[in-house]
Amino acid sequence: DARVVIVGAGIVGCSLADELTARGWSEVTVLEQGPLPAPGGSTSHAPGLVFQTSPSRTLTGFARYTVEKFSSLKVDGLPCFNPVGGLEIATSEERWADLHRKAGLAASWGVRGELIPPARCAELWPLLARDQILGGFHTPDDGLARALLACRAQLERATARGARFLDRHTVTAIEREGGRVTAVVTDRGTFPADAVVCAAGFWGPLIGAMAGVDVPLQPLAHQYATTAPLPELAGVNDPRTEASRPILRFQDRDLYYREHTDRIGIGSYAHRPLPVDPARLPAYDDAPVMPSSLPFTAEDFAPSWAESVGLLPALGASRVEKGFNGVFSFTPDGMPVIGESREVRGFWLAEAVWVTHSAGVARAVAEWMTDGRPGTDVHACDLYRFEEAQRSPAYIAERGRRNFIEVYDVIHPLQPVEQPRPLRVSPFHVRQRELGGYFLEAAGWERPHWYEANAALAGSVQPPPRDAWSARHWSPIAAAEARATRERVALYDMTPLGRLEVSGPGALDFLQRMTTNQLAKKPGTVTYTLLLDEAGGIRSDLTVARLSEHHFQVGTGGALDLDWLLRHAPDDVRVTDITPGTTCVGVWGPLARDLVQPLTPDDFAHEAFGYFTARRTFIGHVPVTAMRLSYVGELGWELYTTADLGLRLWDTLWEAGRRHGVIAAGRSAFNSLRLEKGYRAWGHDMTTEHDPYEAGLGFAVRMDKGDFIGRAALEGRGAGTVTRKLTCLTLDDPAAVAMGKEPVYADGVAAGYVTSASYGYTIGRTVAYAWLPAAIAVPGTAVHIEYFGEKVPATVAAEPLYDPRGERIRR
Ligand code: FAD
Repeated sequence: DARVVIVGAGIVGCSLADELTARGWSEVTVLEQGPLPAPGGSTSHAPGLVFQTSPSRTLTGFARYTVEKFSSLKVDGLPCFNPVGGLEIATSEERWADLHRKAGLAASWGVRGELIPPARCAELWPLLARDQILGGFHTPDDGLARALLACRAQLERATARGARFLDRHTVTAIEREGGRVTAVVTDRGTFPADAVVCAAGFWGPLIGAMAGVDVPLQPLAHQYATTAPLPELAGVNDPRTEASRPILRFQDRDLYYREHTDRIGIGSYAHRPLPVDPARLPAYDDAPVMPSSLPFTAEDFAPSWAESVGLLPALGASRVEKGFNGVFSFTPDGMPVIGESREVRGFWLAEAVWVTHSAGVARAVAEWMTDGRPGTDVHACDLYRFEEAQRSPAYIAERGRRNFIEVYDVIHPLQPVEQPRPLRVSPFHVRQRELGGYFLEAAGWERPHWYEANAALAGSVQPPPRDAWSARHWSPIAAAEARATRERVALYDMTPLGRLEVSGPGALDFLQRMTTNQLAKKPGTVTYTLLLDEAGGIRSDLTVARLSEHHFQVGTGGALDLDWLLRHAPDDVRVTDITPGTTCVGVWGPLARDLVQPLTPDDFAHEAFGYFTARRTFIGHVPVTAMRLSYVGELGWELYTTADLGLRLWDTLWEAGRRHGVIAAGRSAFNSLRLEKGYRAWGHDMTTEHDPYEAGLGFAVRMDKGDFIGRAALEGRGAGTVTRKLTCLTLDDPAAVAMGKEPVYADGVAAGYVTSASYGYTIGRTVAYAWLPAAIAVPGTAVHIEYFGEKVPATVAAEPLYDPRGERIRR
């Protein structure tokens, strides 16, 4: 049997031992430097609040499993989860509106919740200063995880199934051979291992370094304080369960609360970020309290105390009796980091995990280790989601600190990171700035969403006015850019989209095995195809251009595809990320040919340069790979060249385009145009939880082309067998908007959720894609989308909404 060594017996290590042994792993050893059962990591002092709802469907799913599992675990007759419920209160209009949005997220992800008036908040929490509160969001199934008890329960269960927990074993080295882990070295001996899981919490980067694997997280201290006993709480709570009132969040002031029998615990994110270097923390026996508990800095807490007295006036007669600065992990995007290292096989991470998500993460990692893939979509937690440019220690430290500050902020879905910026820019960034580009950020890239230079055009197009939320990071100029693309021609910066080069004698066979569509076509063809996992779930969608016999250029969503291909590539195939050294401009619109033809020696006529073909040619002085593709549903080309020539390419196109009224257009228009054409965005519209037929992408699957990953799982499936569908909706009111992730109601019942949405400027209403049961996903069916608590009528539509026969592209 394979030997697994887990490093760390916090909530993650214990949960993982339980999940692995439940799946039949019999040789599981957990090594822990501290003494069990409270070894001194973050779990040992975690107050255990579990708010399940998050904008991330993945995290919410993890949390739901934690609640379900811990509720079923008992120690000394007491469950490891106390379902006191959760209450988030709003003291500002902005937060109150955001709680409406949050209630929508909860409905989308299947968490029970209700918006309640101040009087009801005060009923649930009698100590609240009711006059300050505008309302609350009550989630009856949230509550308190009893983290150390849950550790014990899972430790005992795993031990009964044969796992060993060895405390006071400090891991000092990870041995490797031939690109695999072989053993874990401790101060008390060496443990042979076929797999090692780093569940060392914020010490993860140190363990990772022992294996030569970067663990992208930043440890930070976070303040937690407990009041003296309050007369108001005398006799209210049973000391065995400690709390009866909901866990409470006061996010307007970055604070949260729970009961500890007759005291109140207060957690604060309101202080300055306090980064911690785990290498400098004392060992367990040398620590004054425990290694992860640093001395309380009262001056940092003072403003939080004042705010707390304001919210809970009874605290005015009390004081902070004890407090500490507790350490835990922050990542560049606030998500956990899980998965197996590609360079060091058998070395797994289960890092940067809250108690809230611990059981869910442990289950996903155990499934991944057992079945080769997690049972749910975890791409947003994947170790390889970060691009090279996001992996520097400086980036991780800076983003970690920022995420601490923003942890309770109202975050708009388009809100870009503030720092470090700019990090990655296109070669023609200087022109984009001259044109007044409004830049947002993704994967480190500066991406213009519209250009102020097009403001003059905006007068001719009048999209409906918007509410303040949907108007953020939006401009009516996008409507003018969309229209110019449909009527004339526009330049789109496609540089931030990933590009891989796949080459070598085995390249075709390799890509055939990896993807669903037929790629054995003559050089010069481009094919839209899918990467599936073994279960037939969609890992990505790609455009594959066969540039010559053994040379392919692959357009991808990003870093995860590179990782997946590198993991599978045989020796005679080279996979290279050419994104950073190259650039791409999309020239799209009915006048695209008029613009490009005079600049190139090649024939760009429809008959000579067909749709979904590619060739090497020149645009003026610039050698390019031209591909006749269009994400916006208009005639045009993607023009690729090396980064050094990017500016020249842009300027050449711009100069030639003047007489055609060319404009630069941004992501905002792009997103609108793509949704009108029904082009899916992986990661938003579909993930590994969906198969191609459900996602409406069956046309990209060729079951008769030979074997490929996921083929066996698709056997017997088809458009006719699906029970749920990615569905096109239009909002009935031309002025209504949706942003994505809203719940969709059919006959008053939450039936699904929106994946992507944008105003469709050509069709004159908002387009939303949503996952819905197949029975509802019938054109003409009336549904409702909940936007900030309002039920907005929408109708299932036949797709695509614009140019369904594709006549505008093929001409
Ligand atoms: P840990 O519990 O830190 O476990 C890692 C273990 O690895 C440690 O026991 C450590 O001793 C061991 N280890 C490290 N290095 C080695 C080595 N070289 N050899 C052997 N063993 C090693 N989360 C919530 O969900 N809700 C909350 O309300 C909440 N409140 C919090 C309040 C505070 C003050 C703090 C600090 C954190 C809070 N968190 C909360 C976060 C949560 O506590 C952590 O995210 C979680 O406990 C991490 O669990 P873990 O198992 O990954 O790490």
